[in-house]
Amino acid sequence: MRITVLGGGPAGLYSATLLKRDNPAASVTVYEQNPRDVTWGFGVVFSDRALSFLEADDPDTYRAFAGQLETWQDITIDLLGDKTVIDGVGFAAIARLKLIQILTRRAEDVGVDLKFGSRPDTYEESLNEADLVIAADGVNSVIRGRDPEGFAASVDHLTNRFAWYGTTKTFPTLTQTFRRSDRGPFNAHHYRYAPDMSTFIVETTEDVWRNAGLDRADDEESRKICETVFADVLDGHPLISNKSIWRVFPKVWNESWYNGNTVLIGDALHTAHFSIGSGTRLAMEDAISLAKSIRENPGDLRKALQAYQDERKPIVAKLVRAAEQSAGWYEQFVAHMEMPPLDFAHGYIKRAGRMDDDKLRAAAPKFMAQYDAVKKEAAQ
Ligand SMILES: Cc1cc2nc3c(=O)[nH]c(=O)nc-3n(C[C@H](O)[C@H](O)[C@H](O)COP(=O)(O)OP(=O)(O)OC[C@H]3O[C@@H](n4cnc5c(N)ncnc54)[C@H](O)[C@@H]3O)c2cc1C
Repeated sequence: MRITVLGGGPAGLYSATLLKRDNPAASVTVYEQNPRDVTWGFGVVFSDRALSFLEADDPDTYRAFAGQLETWQDITIDLLGDKTVIDGVGFAAIARLKLIQILTRRAEDVGVDLKFGSRPDTYEESLNEADLVIAADGVNSVIRGRDPEGFAASVDHLTNRFAWYGTTKTFPTLTQTFRRSDRGPFNAHHYRYAPDMSTFIVETTEDVWRNAGLDRADDEESRKICETVFADVLDGHPLISNKSIWRVFPKVWNESWYNGNTVLIGDALHTAHFSIGSGTRLAMEDAISLAKSIRENPGDLRKALQAYQDERKPIVAKLVRAAEQSAGWYEQFVAHMEMPPLDFAHGYIKRAGRMDDDKLRAAAPKFMAQYDAVKKEAAQ
């Protein structure tokens, strides 16, 4: 069997690894446009169980991540300097580059052929000749774009603007900071992903972004504006850029997960807003499901791809709905900022529609004790 994977992000590298592991005689090639050891973004965060979903199915990869993650409990909501801690929520984070390097080594260990710095002329023939093509080429997937009807693809965009920076300032917990400035209201999602580095995603509305001149600002000007807005948080540390252009978040969905011998996976297939920190895990879980479906349907690719879609689609659809609700909260964050800090934090933690107050009392007892006490006092 010849398997061609386009895209060497988490989805492409991990699906290639599992398929080669399960089918040692297959020829599995990953074509990645970037050179080796180059990627976009900074650190990524995983909720709760971190990468424990790997433990049962792939202990080797799980072990490769051991000790590489920054972990912490709690979220801090900083509304105009008023800080509320939401306890009980556990996180783990890692540099995106480190994650890619670990997955690259795993792929090489099992015998995947990795071709970095690939241009279309280097992979077109391989795409045409493969028995199975895995489109793991991210949100702007060229493979999906060649036949959007075949995948029943839809791509929509949120309106807020965001830029993904890093900083050398480290933070004790994942923090959501909201500031008013003379350029308008801004939000930052920030967390430590290495002992000396943090992710720092700046978000604002389309109007504020334009009025602040960020639509015309170059990289250095953009960083300076954001450093000024978040000066008290950054504490003299700079923002660092890595292709940190201002973007709108794309909502990608496909009704048909495969088309002929081509299957979509990861962000090429679906996106989940970064505010629920699940895109990487979803991409890797897609890979696990795809490999399992192929293992369980030997010699029948169509049945295997249908089994992959049947198993994963309802699970992913549910998470994508939660991510959209979460993103909807951010689209309205300026209005939410009018609330008292505790109500604001309460609305924030319930934004994805997956928590009610009873669940929250179990998950975040200290925060809810504080919230319930304030509500009781107000009612008297
Ligand atoms: C601001 C932001 C913050 C995020 N934070 C988190 C987080 O905290 N936690 C989390 O889990 N997820 C997070 N995500 C989402 C996460 O980054 C993605 O869901 C994840 O990277 C998807 O993996 P992928 O392999 O499908 O796609 P990608 O990681 O995008 O990889 C696709 C690869 O394909 C390559 N490629 C594309 N086109 C071609 C081509 N034509 N030829 C060859 N190669 C090509 C690209 O170079 C890239 O390496 C965040 C996303 C954003 C935008």
